[in-house]
Amino acid sequence: MQPGHIILLGAPGVGKGTQAKVVAASTGLPHISTGDMLRASVAAGTEMGKRAKAVMESGALVDDELILGIVSERLSQDDAKNGVVFDGFPRTVVQAQGLDALVVERRGVGITHIFHIVLDDEEIVTRLAGRRVCEDCGAIYHVQYQPPRVDGRCDRCGGVLRQRKDDQPEVIRHRLTVYRTETAPLVAYYRSRPGYVEVDGSGDAAAVTNRILPFLR
Ligand code: AMP
Repeated sequence: MQPGHIILLGAPGVGKGTQAKVVAASTGLPHISTGDMLRASVAAGTEMGKRAKAVMESGALVDDELILGIVSERLSQDDAKNGVVFDGFPRTVVQAQGLDALVVERRGVGITHIFHIVLDDEEIVTRLAGRRVCEDCGAIYHVQYQPPRVDGRCDRCGGVLRQRKDDQPEVIRHRLTVYRTETAPLVAYYRSRPGYVEVDGSGDAAAVTNRILPFLR
């Protein structure tokens, strides 16, 4: 199936961001991370950023209307016309229904692949607590599993590596609870659709990529 809209589902920390970048590179489709878009708005101090900041730092979800607004706007851009790779969206059933409506509007470009990445909670907490992100280019590292060559600095651009505020242990626990109550129901929403695939998220990033890429060829 020719890739169109691709969804990466799964709890925070299962590797959606890392895999989304690879899937985007291999399909040529743009990578759309609602979390990255929101963090950019927070950094720029926009009205939307001000609304989202406290919610994000607490580990709760930003409201559906705002998210559907930014996604709809992003999908209207020229580079998204053949489809996109969603990372961290949809996160609620309301968002999934909103996406279905947007897809109907975009006749011809359907949801072709839904990769549900699965990993146990203990491993999720270890991954999130050790995650570090380059504040300049967004590259993702892990203090233990994927350390940078120079401590605290990005291999790619030399930027400073930071821990996200929502990767602190108390917030991680809350995010997992939010995932179970608000996002896990999406599995039932998508499971019976064509293109739904459950992917084992264990092992290193390359191992997970090797489980995903065959579905995109
Ligand atoms: P992420 O980078 O995907 O882990 O997102 C970081 C935070 O941004 C989340 O914990 C939410 O507060 C917010 N966020 C990102 N994407 C969404 C979404 N699709 N719906 C609601 N909130 C979101």
